[in-house]
Amino acid sequence: MTAKYATGSCYYCHVKKIKPEMFQTNIEIKTGRSSGSWGLGRSQYGKKRRKATHLRYNAGRTYYKNKKIWCCRECYADNHPSEAGFKSQRQIRNERVKREEQKKYNLKSSGEKAIKLIKLVKKYTNNNPKVFNQKNLSEINTSLNNITKAIENTNDYEKIDEAISNCKEIFYLNCPNLKIKLLFRFWNSPIFYSIIIIWLLIFSIKNF
Ligand SMILES: [Zn+2]
Repeated sequence: MTAKYATGSCYYCHVKKIKPEMFQTNIEIKTGRSSGSWGLGRSQYGKKRRKATHLRYNAGRTYYKNKKIWCCRECYADNHPSEAGFKSQRQIRNERVKREEQKKYNLKSSGEKAIKLIKLVKKYTNNNPKVFNQKNLSEINTSLNNITKAIENTNDYEKIDEAISNCKEIFYLNCPNLKIKLLFRFWNSPIFYSIIIIWLLIFSIKNF
């Protein structure tokens, strides 16, 4: 013996289900709209509170009424998210896709950052052979290799970011020349430091 349940059809997708699997809620539906009209209006204005008569447009009103509806689980979550308190399969899927896209984007931008940093480090070490001793260079090269390994072996952008910040740290520690250190710092985030420099310039001109 199976219990017989009343069935209902979903207000949104029209699927037919037994009522215990459906959700009931209220929606507002438009029942009509009164048309706008022109009329005379009087307002007071100015210091002497003069009265003026002018033509005024009275906007029409839209009328609503509440309607009780049945809907399926998916449509309930989609159309009444705050009330439902759970997510529809589609929402879960969309969120997963978004997360994957974000991960891909992060991975790509971390990879680009890493390549830029490697070029920058090589530029400074190659162009200033007298500044760095053998030990400095070997430490710096190890950190560069760690970045390359991170790019090749992982899909985890955080590992690449970690290798990037380690490499920067190692470069600062192993660069004995202050000017090169500052230039390196600047070219790592040129936009950020440009804004700070411009801001400082404006500040100092104002206070001159
Ligand atoms: Zn539905």
